[in-house]
This record gives sequence, structure tokens and C-alpha cells, in this order.
Amino acid sequence: MELKIFQKGFNFSQDGPGNRLVYHLFGCNMHCPWCSNPEGMGCGGEYYTASPEQITEEALSCKAMFFENGGVTFTGGECTLQAEPLAETLKRLLDNNISTAIETNGTYKSFFKLIPLLDYIIMDFKHPDSDKHRKITGISNQIIKENIMLASNSGKELLIRIPLINGFNTDEKTIEEFLEFFQTVNKDNTRIELLKYHEYGKDKWKKCGLEYTVKDGFVSEEIRINFENKIKDIGHKTVRT
Ligand code: SF4
Repeated sequence: MELKIFQKGFNFSQDGPGNRLVYHLFGCNMHCPWCSNPEGMGCGGEYYTASPEQITEEALSCKAMFFENGGVTFTGGECTLQAEPLAETLKRLLDNNISTAIETNGTYKSFFKLIPLLDYIIMDFKHPDSDKHRKITGISNQIIKENIMLASNSGKELLIRIPLINGFNTDEKTIEEFLEFFQTVNKDNTRIELLKYHEYGKDKWKKCGLEYTVKDGFVSEEIRINFENKIKDIGHKTVRT
């Protein structure tokens, strides 16, 4: 099986440690209204295909670029929608001593199968309340919470990313619910990053023929710092990549 890829390029430190070759895999099972890669949701976007062997060869050919513990990261869209060729590719990369990472929305039911194939895990967590999560993204957060626990208990390096969206997940009650959940997450190998809303994807939505529905998503720096401090107060590490 081949991977469907809609974008690739090098990125330093934002998608895992060091300099990394980042593959954006096509397709997503959520429909977050603020998504900056709506073409990855399949709205008429274009992609090309590559086999696990081809990706491994490409990664080997640029191994010298993987400085500061870099390697290969798969993101999206949602990379776990292509779990079978993804797992095969991760295995091949590891066999060739190339560091592996994924960024995922956390909804893959068999995520436990991927964990042994990963050096670094980035998992998004958008809202602690399942109904609100489903209403906005189309999917409950139940499996995401389970997968965060699995990842954090695996001992692998885990980065949890929260997009801060005004009117969705930055009110006091929601922040308290986030903190309540984070109390149960392993603190040793986990870091948490708060990403303020931006409109980088707005024009792409229009190009895809879709309506961009976020009206007032911006969040102040004060709200981010306040939330970060609360996360630190319960003993978790925060990070800004
Ligand atoms: S999970 Fe990520 S890629 Fe999928 S719609 Fe949401 S923001 Fe976009």
C-alpha cells in the first residue's frame, strides 16, 4: 500500500526534535473549523502517492539534514487514517536508524500498535468535554483521552498540543476541566503546548469552496500565559515550539 501525501518539507523543531522531514498525509476524520490545512481534509485537494520503500529511500538520501536529533515526522490531515502503510514506513525508518514521529488528532482506535514504532508523539487535544468536542470537530474525545493515557504511560516523549480558540475552549470552566484531565497524565515524559488561534488556513478554505465559519477566534497572550501557569502549577511542563 502507498501513502497519499499532499505536502512535504523540512521543518526545524516544530514537529518533533531537531531538523525533520515532514510529510503531510492526505485526509482527515475531523472537520475543525479553524483547520489550517483544509486541503488535507480531502476538499478537492491534490496529492501524490509514495510507497514505504520510496519514503525510506528519500529519508536515507537526506540523512545528513537530520541534525540535532532530527528525523521524519508524519502529520496531516490525519496521518493515522493511513495506518497500514504508515506503520510499514515507520518500521523501515527505524530499521535504518532514522528517528520517527507523528502528529495525530488521537482518534486512531489501534494507536497502541503504532507506539512501539515511534520515538516521539505529538497528540492534539482540543476540548475536555466530549459533547462540545463532537459538536465542533465531529468526533467525541473519548478515544483521544485513552490514547493520551496510552502514550503518556508508554514512556515515549509526548507533546500534547491544544489549539486555543476563543468561544470554544478558553473559558475558566473548560480550563479547569483540561487541568483535571492533565492531573491523571504522566508528568515525566509529557509536555503541553498551547497554540493561539491564527487564520493561516482562511484563504485555503475559500479556495476549497468551503465557508470559513470562525468569526472571533483570537485569544490574548494574557489568556495563554494564565493557562500555561496553571498547567505548571499542577506540575506539568509547558513548551513553545
Ligand atoms: S484534526 Fe487537524 S487536520 Fe484534521 S480538521 Fe482538525 S485541525 Fe485539520
